[in-house]
Amino acid sequence: MKTSRQACWLRATGLLVVVLITSIPSWAQQTSNSVTTNSAPFDDGQLHVVLCGTGSPLPDANRAQACTAILAGSEFVLVDAGSGSWRKVATNNLPVQNLSAILLTHYHSDHIGDLGEALMQSWVAGRSQKLNVYGPPGVEQVVAGFAQAYSLDTDYRVLHHGQQIMPRAAAGAIATPVKLKSDTDGTLVFDRNGLKVTAFKVNHDPVSPAYGYRFEYKGRVVVVSGDTAKSDNLAKHAAGADLLIHEVIVKNLIQFAANNFQQSGNLRRAKLSRDINTYHTSPLEAAEVAATAKAETLVFTHIVPPPNSPQIEQALTRGVSDVFKGKVVIGSDGMRFDLPPRN
Ligand SMILES: [Zn+2]
Ligand SMILES: [Zn+2]
Repeated sequence: MKTSRQACWLRATGLLVVVLITSIPSWAQQTSNSVTTNSAPFDDGQLHVVLCGTGSPLPDANRAQACTAILAGSEFVLVDAGSGSWRKVATNNLPVQNLSAILLTHYHSDHIGDLGEALMQSWVAGRSQKLNVYGPPGVEQVVAGFAQAYSLDTDYRVLHHGQQIMPRAAAGAIATPVKLKSDTDGTLVFDRNGLKVTAFKVNHDPVSPAYGYRFEYKGRVVVVSGDTAKSDNLAKHAAGADLLIHEVIVKNLIQFAANNFQQSGNLRRAKLSRDINTYHTSPLEAAEVAATAKAETLVFTHIVPPPNSPQIEQALTRGVSDVFKGKVVIGSDGMRFDLPPRN
C-alpha cells in the first residue's frame, strides 16, 4: 500500500518521465566488456569489483544502500556498508571470513547502516583478527558506537561457542582515521599485498571531509566516488581509471518532484528534495568527470531515484554519450567486474 507521500512522489516522477520517453540508446544497456556474471574464484590475480549496494536512502526493494566490494589477491575490502549490503555480500558468495578492511567514505546512515553486521558476521565466519575500518576523522566514534551496540551479542557468542571458535580478540574493529594532507592531494591509506589504496577529498558539504577512494592493482585502477557534488578533485584522482564507480542523481526529476511537493503544500518534502540536489552529481556531470579523467568505463551507483523503470533508466543515460565516449553501466546489486592484470 502506498502512502500519500509515496503516491505524490510517484506522480511527480511519473509525470516527467512520460515527457522524456524516447528509445534507450543501445550502448546504455550494454554492460562493459569487463563485466562478467561468473562465479569463478576471486584469488586469481585479477582485480575484482562486486557491487553490493547500488541504492540510496530512498526505499528500493532491489537495491541495498551503498557498498562496493574490491577483491585483489588476499585483500577483500568493502567501500561503505550501507543497510542491506551485508546480505548482498553474503549472497554473492564473497569470501566473508577473509574480509580485510572496510573503507568508509563518510558517515551518512546509508553508508554505515550494516557496519555492525559486517563486523559481526565476518567474525562469525572465521575472521581471525580485528578488522581495520578506515575513514575520515570521526570513524572512531562510529566504530565505538557499533562496538557498544553489539557488545552483548559478542558476549553471547563467546559464551555459547567458546574462545577457540569465537576468539574475543578477533571481534570488532580498529578504527583508523585517515587525515588528508590537503584538499587536493591524495593520501595513502595502505599499500599491501599489491593493492594500493588512496583517499582523496570529494565535495559533499556540509558533510566534510567526505572521501573517494582510488584502488590500484597490477596495472588496473578502480575509483569509487563516495557521495559528492561534481568534483574536479575526483576527476583528478580518477585519471586513467578502468572503472569509475560514480554516485548519481537525476536532478531534473528531483527538482520536478520538489516543485510538485511545493505546490501541494508539502513544504518539508519540497525542501528536503531541493537540498538533496545540492550535494550529489547528475548523470551529465558524472559523464564530464569521467571524460576529464579519461576513464574507460563509468558505472552509476547510489542511484537516485531508484531506476526501476525503463523511463528512469532513460533519464539516467539521456545525453551521457554526447559527453563521455567510454562505456556506461547502470550498476545493479551483484554486478561483477573482472579486470585482468595489465603488467
Ligand atoms: Zn551522503
Ligand atoms: Zn549516500
